[in-house]
Amino acid sequence: MNIAFIGLGNMGAPMARNLIKAGHQLNLFDLNQSVLAELAQLGGHVAASPKAAAEGAELVITMLPAAAHVRSVWLGEDGVLAGIGRGVPAVDCSTIDPQTAREVAAAAAKHGGVAMADAPVSGGTGGAQAGTLTFMVGASAELFSTLQPVLAQMGRNIVHCGEVGTGQIAKICNNLLLGISMIGVSEAMALGDALGIDTQVLAGIINSSTGRCWSSDTYNPWPGVIETAPASRGYTGGFGAELMLKDLGLATEAARQAHQPVVLGAVAQQLYQAMSQRGEGGKDFSAIVNSYRKPQS
Ligand code: NAD
Repeated sequence: MNIAFIGLGNMGAPMARNLIKAGHQLNLFDLNQSVLAELAQLGGHVAASPKAAAEGAELVITMLPAAAHVRSVWLGEDGVLAGIGRGVPAVDCSTIDPQTAREVAAAAAKHGGVAMADAPVSGGTGGAQAGTLTFMVGASAELFSTLQPVLAQMGRNIVHCGEVGTGQIAKICNNLLLGISMIGVSEAMALGDALGIDTQVLAGIINSSTGRCWSSDTYNPWPGVIETAPASRGYTGGFGAELMLKDLGLATEAARQAHQPVVLGAVAQQLYQAMSQRGEGGKDFSAIVNSYRKPQS
């Protein structure tokens, strides 16, 4: 297929590489020239704007930092909608608020019947490189079946969540819970340590008892408990606290609009915000455990 791919950062670049490997012709656009040069060497075609990338494409994919970028890339003067053909399918994989996802999709539908889905991902940069991402897709059944085979070349689990916007809802609800559960595990591990139990023993008990969760058994925030977790390598190379803070901001804002309380989510957001203020926003989010520990020498 001839695919336009816009937004080639930590996630988008490896996703685009997997599509090139699968044999597609890619029209690429990003503000960063060096990533464009690198992908051009693999056979991608560099376009001068989102509009130019979309012209002649049979599918348009975007992977951008936040809602403002999605609006400008899609709706701007030189944006995707100015170049995309009638009825061409499209998907935005960025993590943004459900409201913006619905509004941009509505603008696309109005513009020549472009069917647009939201499909945020989980799995991080490792999953993007390995082609094992989970895609949470908000789309009509028909659009989902069109997108599924292409998304499957970048991911392992392609889940149809419902109509447009529901992919973003699934993503922010999951990450709301993840942000909270990591703090819960941190609190319990730090209390156990302060009271004098070996943290390996405590983690073993939790992981075979009712406190067990992903934050405890796969990604435990206590150093040395899980060898492969970021906690065991100085909280590097994982899911940055700044990204968690972004997702909690999306969740609490969506909750505000829906008049829905997210009490623990709001507290979690403040704790990650304090971490960011201390200059630790670049560390993996599990470093939130340090809020409960005496400063380490
Ligand atoms: P990133 O900042 O590494 O990449 C974003 C890319 O978009 C950059 O290359 C930037 O130059 C480009 N860009 C920005 N504005 C643009 C514009 N107007 N036109 C064209 N290109 C533009 O971000 P990322 O880590 O790749 O994340 C992308 C999205 O995926 C975000 O919404 C993020 O929340 C989500 N996400 C990230 C991860 C992760 O682990 N990094 C995991 C899951 C989801």
